[in-house]
Amino acid sequence: MLKTVFLALVPFLVFAEQTLSIIKPDAVRENHVGAIIDRFEKNGLRIAAIKKVQLSKEKAGDFYAVHKGRPFYEDLTKFMSSGPVVVMVLDGPDAIQKNRKIMGATNFEKAEPGTIRKDFAKSMTENAVHGSDSPESAAQEITFFFEPNQIF
Ligand code: GDP
Repeated sequence: MLKTVFLALVPFLVFAEQTLSIIKPDAVRENHVGAIIDRFEKNGLRIAAIKKVQLSKEKAGDFYAVHKGRPFYEDLTKFMSSGPVVVMVLDGPDAIQKNRKIMGATNFEKAEPGTIRKDFAKSMTENAVHGSDSPESAAQEITFFFEPNQIF
C-alpha cells in the first residue's frame, strides 16, 4: 500500500514544476477565463496561485523588459495594460513545457489545432495567453507577481 502511494507520487516529487501563466486582456475581455483555466486543469496542471490585476504600462514594460527595443514592444505594453489580466502559478509535472504546448505557438496562425492560441488569439500581439519559457524565467516571473505565502 505504502509502496503504491509512493510510486504514484514519484512523478510529482521528481518532475513537479511551477510556471507563470497570464490570461491576457483580449481573452479576459471576451470572457474566456473559465475556458482557458479548464484546459490547464484537464491537462494535469494545478492552479497554485491566481489573481486578477490591471497592469500599468510601466509594469507591463518591466515584465516584458527583455523585448525592449523590439518593433512590437510599444504595441505589446499598450495592449498588456489595456485591461485586467488573470495571473496564475501553474503547478505540475513538466509544467513549463506542458503549458507552452497547451498555449500553442506565439503566432496563432502557426499554432496547432486545439491549442489556446489557435482557438482564442486574434493577432500576433493579442494572443490570449503568456507562459514562462524556461525555469529561470518562471522563477523570475512568479516572483514578479506573487509573494511565496500567496502560492499554495
Ligand atoms: P511568447 O513567449 O510565445 O509569448 O513569445 P515572446 O516572448 O517571443 O513574445 C512576447 C509577446 O510579444 C508575444 O506573446 C506577443 O504578444 C508579442 N510578440 C512577439 N513577437 C511579436 C511580433 O513579431 N509581432 C508582434 N506584433 N507581437 C509580437
